Formats: sequence, structure tokens, C-alpha cells
Amino acid sequence: MPELQAVVDEIAEEMRATPLRGEVATYIPELARVDPRYFAIAIVDARGEIFTGGDADVPFSIQSISKVFTLMLALGKIGDRLWQRVGREPSGSRFNSIVQLEAERGIPRNPFINAGAIAVTDAILAGHQPRETLGEILRFMQFLAADDGVYIDHKVAASEQRTGFRNAALANYMRSFGVIDNPVEYTLGVYYHHCAIAMSCRQLAMAGRVLAHFDSEPSTIRPVLTAERARRINALMLTCGHYDGSGEFAYRVGLTGKSGVGGGILAIAPGKASIAVWSPGLDVSGNSRLGQLALERLSKRMEWSIFGA
Ligand code: GLU
Repeated sequence: MPELQAVVDEIAEEMRATPLRGEVATYIPELARVDPRYFAIAIVDARGEIFTGGDADVPFSIQSISKVFTLMLALGKIGDRLWQRVGREPSGSRFNSIVQLEAERGIPRNPFINAGAIAVTDAILAGHQPRETLGEILRFMQFLAADDGVYIDHKVAASEQRTGFRNAALANYMRSFGVIDNPVEYTLGVYYHHCAIAMSCRQLAMAGRVLAHFDSEPSTIRPVLTAERARRINALMLTCGHYDGSGEFAYRVGLTGKSGVGGGILAIAPGKASIAVWSPGLDVSGNSRLGQLALERLSKRMEWSIFGA
């Protein structure tokens, strides 16, 4: 097996030299300003050691990667009752699609498409003020990353709030079916702000340890997620973590993962590694182009695919 830091250096170098970077997301105006030349990778291995390459300490907008963590919080709060309002099937549709909602009576296909994540946020919000819920989500991320420097980028949140007409449509539509309980503007406000959490790859890879469930996991984070729940969230990441590109990601990379339109991907090799990559250019499904390529090479070179070497 090659040495991990050597592989990380090699991949960072290869990505620096790759011209095909994809398009930066523009539908959230603040994200359109990000320089597409960034590339970052960070890995925490089973012994808790961290390996980094490229711009691993530059914070970026984690966007939909936050949905993995809000799912943990919602399951922690209401347990399997969550599945009465959100499904667990891949959608095969774009991240912000509304088409399935009518036929399926306002129940989103899974917790990672926008509609599903908004329903999950609504479940966490129940009985609280938006500010309290947001504080809870942010503190959770800081705790998992073991870093108080994780913050909410209010400019990104405001930018999305101003232009989030589709998400408002999804939320209102679900509310009409009784899938959303809170005032739509409260739920959306929390949703936009948790999507606007900014983290570096180093912080994100640290936060992902809880899903990798290492034997060496620190006793502080072990109680956050049972092995069974980690396994199930990983299953959803594999089948639904990349929207209509989930099949392609499983085929090429063979790891569980969740992408965000900021260009980040959190990928997990259960028991082996928690990996964060970031490159802002996206493919047609809204997934980081170089991020996927880097993970494909990493998983192959380290023989980390969950489907075998
Ligand atoms: N905040 C983004 C939205 O609601 C998240 C999308 C993503 O990262 O895929 O459109």
C-alpha cells in the first residue's frame, strides 16, 4: 500500500495541473465569486492522523454537506419518526426538483435533495426559535470538527435568501401537505444559514470522523452516533449523496459521500478514513468535477472502495 501523504501530494499536484474544472455555481450569487482554481484535500485516517494537500485550510461554503449533519441531529431528536415525512430512495432528479413532490403527496424522496433537507430542518426546528436551532447546528459542527473556528457566512445565507425562489416553492408546497409544521420563513431561514456554514477541508474531514466510526474514535464523539445509525447514514450517502449523479459517484469512487454546490465533498471509507475535498467547479449534476476525480484516484490508489480492491 502506498504511503498516504505521498498519494495526497500526488493527487494535489495532478489536480493543480488539470484544466477541466467545470462551472462554479451561479444561482447563489455569492458563490459565483469564488475562484475556480482552488483545490483542497484533507484525510483523517483510522488512527486519527490528518493528511492534507492544496488549500486545506481555506474555508468554503459547505452547502448541502450540512444536510448529513442536520440529518444526524433530526434522528437524534425524533428518531425513526423522521421517516414518516422523508423517504430513503434515490430521486434520480436534480437537487432542487419539485416534480416528484406532487405525485408523492409532499413527502420528499430522501433527506439530501433540497425538499428533503428542508423537511429535516423543520423537524429540528420544532418548538424552538430559528436562532436557537441555528446555534445548535453550528455548535454541533464546531464540536465534531474540534474547532471553534467553524462559522456561518452570513453573506452567503443572505444571497441565497434573496434568490431562493425554488426552495421557497418546495417549502410552501410541502407545507400545503402538512409535511412542514413551522412557518415557512423560519424553516427556510435556518436551512439557508446551515447551508452557509463555512469550513475548511481539514475541519470537514475532522467532522466526518463520526461517520467513519474508527476503532480509535475519541470518547468525546463516540456517543454522538451509534454504529447502526452511522451505517444507515452512510447507506443514504451512497445512494442519494450526489443527487442524479449518485450512481456515477458509486461507480467511479466506491465510497459513501455527500456533495455541496460550493464544490465540497465529504467522503467516507468506513473504518478507514474520513475525506474532504474541495474544488468549486461543478458538473451538470451540481457535483465538484475535480473533487470526484480526486476521490476516484484516491480510492483506487489506497484500495479503499467499499466494494473491494
Ligand atoms: N443551499 C443550496 C440550495 O438550497 C444547497 C444545494 C446544494 O448544495 O446542492 O440550493
